[in-house]
Amino acid sequence: MTRRIAMVSVHACPLAKLGGRDSGGMNVYVRELARDLGTRGVEVDVFTRWREKDDPRIQQLGPNARVIHIQSGPIGYWPKMEVYEHLDEFTDKLIEHAASEEKSYDLVHAHYWLSAKVARSLEQTWNVPVVQMFHTLGLVKREVMDEDIDGESDIRIEIEREAVKKSAAVVAASEIELGELRRLYRADASRVAVIPCGVDPTLFHPVRQVDAREKLGRDQCERLILFVGRIEQIKGIDVLLRALGLLFQRHPDMRSDVCLLVVGGALDPGDDAPETEKILELRRLVHEHRLESNVSFVGSRGQEDLALYYAAADLCAVPSLTESFGLVALEAMACGTPVVGTRVGGLQTIIENGRSGLLVPAGDYQALADAMAEVLTDARLRMHLAHGARDRAEHFTWRRVGDRIVDLYDRVLDERKVNV
Ligand code: UDP
Repeated sequence: MTRRIAMVSVHACPLAKLGGRDSGGMNVYVRELARDLGTRGVEVDVFTRWREKDDPRIQQLGPNARVIHIQSGPIGYWPKMEVYEHLDEFTDKLIEHAASEEKSYDLVHAHYWLSAKVARSLEQTWNVPVVQMFHTLGLVKREVMDEDIDGESDIRIEIEREAVKKSAAVVAASEIELGELRRLYRADASRVAVIPCGVDPTLFHPVRQVDAREKLGRDQCERLILFVGRIEQIKGIDVLLRALGLLFQRHPDMRSDVCLLVVGGALDPGDDAPETEKILELRRLVHEHRLESNVSFVGSRGQEDLALYYAAADLCAVPSLTESFGLVALEAMACGTPVVGTRVGGLQTIIENGRSGLLVPAGDYQALADAMAEVLTDARLRMHLAHGARDRAEHFTWRRVGDRIVDLYDRVLDERKVNV
């Protein structure tokens, strides 16, 4: 039976340029899931805030899958709390749009806390069940950050609590997230489905390192450490820079041929000014540790280019303080690049320490330096981890995510039939 899903992703547009402020894994997730569901004949409309003025109001993502931009407040980048201020307008316009197309939906699938608030209204107006995925949780973030950088915590946490209580089902990206939902939000485990995220093997697969380096114009002799992601404190880039400083103290010979490439973020001020600010801060750290010749901030790159960066690297560092899943680690692994990640959230469920990557405690730059030194100096270990990583990554495909999500939708809709 055809299902119609209203996917609500207020601040993560599946068409967005990735790696900039507030666009990363969630955008990828919504894009890949909507496309996969569409190919199965599930009709998906993704409702998202209109952020890029050149985007058309409605755009096809693939068969049966559309993106519908809703204008709430002026078009452009806005911090999340300002997006929050316009959520009622977003909801009203979304409902108006669906009515104008005479469309009804069987189920709402909401992403992140901002969409959870919209989902509560849709649940009532349309009388449909809600499946919620948080991607990150406010209370988890609060545990690892010293300050409430986005000024969003209390409202966010209240909305998350309500969503946990009222949604028909919650999707967690790992068993760790399930544990956090139970411990911090008193979630009923029987309503939480653990569904790990996926990777696109047609995009992320091994490429010969020499070829990738040639295409990127990199020196074949250098040893390359790669970081990919949004430039935010939670990603631990400062810890990585400290680790690199220590690595050179311990192995002075490495200064001449080890380079760190930081992919992600906006290099020019403008829409993404706060992030550019963060890069300036990191540059100060680079200066402090005398790393100018060894660190390059590359800016954000499209995923086709990223595949080359992963293949060119000797190791990919994922030093996050918290990570609900960690797509970057999985993408690197699918490319056969050894990953050194932190033992947090989903990363510890993707990476098997010593087999498909190495895990170190979050925030521990000494342990990170040790692990990076091991991978850089031991070719056999690199080979072993690369093989393990590729084998492991094969378990995670978007097709599999789609299978599990469709099962979940069916279960939620069947339960509803029984209860009506
Ligand atoms: N990404 C990208 N270009 C960049 C930086 C990141 O395409 O310059 C993508 C990357 O491929 C990954 C996503 O952004 O799919 C980041 O996801 P992850 O789960 O690692 O982090 P999140 O953004 O969800 O915190």
